[in-house]
Amino acid sequence: MNPIMADRSKFIIRNVRVLEADSFSDCKSVLVHNGVISAIGEDREDLDGVNGQGHYLVPGLIDAHVHIANVDHLHRLAKAGVTTALDMGAWPTNTAKLRALVALDEHGKGGLCDFRSAGIVMTAPNTPHSRFPGVPSDSIVQTPQEAQECVRLRVAEGSDYIKLIADVPGPTQECLTAATQEARRLGKMVIIHAVTYKPFRMAIIARPHIITHAPVDKPLTEDDAREMAKHNIACVPTLVMMRHVKRSTAKYENAAASVLTMHRAGVLVLAGSDAVDYPGVPAQIEHGGGMLEELELLVEAGMSPAEVLAGSTTKTAKYFGLRDRATINKGMRADLVLLKEDPFEDVTAFKRLERVWCAGRHMHLEQL
Ligand SMILES: [Zn+2]
Repeated sequence: MNPIMADRSKFIIRNVRVLEADSFSDCKSVLVHNGVISAIGEDREDLDGVNGQGHYLVPGLIDAHVHIANVDHLHRLAKAGVTTALDMGAWPTNTAKLRALVALDEHGKGGLCDFRSAGIVMTAPNTPHSRFPGVPSDSIVQTPQEAQECVRLRVAEGSDYIKLIADVPGPTQECLTAATQEARRLGKMVIIHAVTYKPFRMAIIARPHIITHAPVDKPLTEDDAREMAKHNIACVPTLVMMRHVKRSTAKYENAAASVLTMHRAGVLVLAGSDAVDYPGVPAQIEHGGGMLEELELLVEAGMSPAEVLAGSTTKTAKYFGLRDRATINKGMRADLVLLKEDPFEDVTAFKRLERVWCAGRHMHLEQL
C-alpha cells in the first residue's frame, strides 16, 4: 500500500469492499474530504490514495462503556479501531480539557478517538464506588431528593448522559427511580451499573435506557429479559470485565447466559469493554484491546459476528443519537477501519487491522 498522505483534507480509498448494512459491496472507491465521506463509488485519479484491493472497509467501532482519564486512553482506543468511546464514569472529571484536545487534535500524532462522558456517577454511602478517590459528596445520595439534585448537578456540569450505580449496599430503589425520572425529564439518557441479580432487578424497575454489566451470581430469567425488551432497556454487558469480578457467588457463565437470554428476547445488546485503569477496580481492562476481546466474548455467548458488529457501530450510534457516524455513507464522519480479513467470518479480524482514520485523520499506528 502507498503511504497515506499527510494532507488530511482530501484523499481516496480505492478498490475496497465497503460495509453496507450487513454485507460487503463489490470494490468501490471512498472519497474523504475535511474529515467527512464526500463520495462513494467514483474514482478521482488526480487524488492520492490508499489501494484497498482485497481489503474490507468498516465504520470505526463505538465502545459503549469505557473510563477516560487521559489522552493516552484516547490514543489506545483509536489504535484498536475504536473511533468513538462512551465514558461511563470519570472522576475527578477532566473531560473539558480532553474534549478540547480531541477538537484541536493538537498533540501532533494524528487520530484521536472521539468521546462522550457521563462525568461523575451517583452512588450511596459505604459502597465501593463512594470510596474511589475524588468522588464528590454530592454524588453520594441517601434520599430521592438528593438523587434528583445529583442528576441536576451532573447535567449542569455537562454530562452527556447520567450513570447510576445499583448495588447492595447502594442507592435505594426510590433513589434509582427518582434519579432516572429526573434525568429523563431533563432529556438525558440513563445508564445503570449492576453486577449481581438483585441490583439488576432494581435497575430494571427504575426503567433506564441501559443497564451495564450482567449478573454474575444468577442468570437473568426469560421474564426479566422480556420485561427489558418491552420497556426498551438495552444492555452493555461488558463480559470482558465480568470474567474478573471477584465475589464468592460470581460465575462468568451466569453473565454469558444472561447475554443470550436478553439477545433472544429482543433486548438490544451493545458492545462495551469497561476499559479502566483506576486503582481498586476488579481488573485493569486495556483501552482498545478490551473492546476487541469483548467482540469475541459476545460471539462466544451466542450472537452472530454481524449482530456483534452492528452492536458496536450502527445500533450504538442510533441508540445514543450520534447521527453523524457509524455508517459508510456520503456526509458521515470518516471514522473508518481498513481490515485485511472479513469480520463477518471472524471478529478477531480487528486485532490485525491495517489502518484507522478518526474523522478522516489517519491514525499512525507505529507511533504508539
Ligand atoms: Zn465501568
